[in-house]
Amino acid sequence: MHEVGLCEGIVAAAASRAGDRQVRGLRVRIGGHLVDAGVIRQGVEVAAIGTVVEGAALDLVLEPLVAHCRDCGQDAPGDVPAAMSACARCGGVDIEMTGSEQVILESISVAATSEARPPQAAAVRAPVTEARA
Ligand SMILES: [Zn+2]
Repeated sequence: MHEVGLCEGIVAAAASRAGDRQVRGLRVRIGGHLVDAGVIRQGVEVAAIGTVVEGAALDLVLEPLVAHCRDCGQDAPGDVPAAMSACARCGGVDIEMTGSEQVILESISVAATSEARPPQAAAVRAPVTEARA
């Protein structure tokens, strides 16, 4: 897995959902990846710099793969290759993988619009072109 791309994707998703509001916190569910929460946390922190997501608290939910047997109902850790092909308890092959590889931005919390963008922030951009002339 490419952690940098994953983290940038999380930040981009949160930023697009937030619009121009400052993101205070985000809740992300990562399924099926064997990831190090610390690595993701750090990656998101770095990817968020300069965006509305910068400084947001990250609530990370890691959800490992689960191999669910439709025959007997047993759930086994899905990161073991054998568990994907046959059930360890009944030998059934009707295995359903849950928690498959997906990254879900579950929710974000944003600051109130008024405190996110002070009124003078918009005006600062205007003189930029004149300064170069
Ligand atoms: Zn079974």
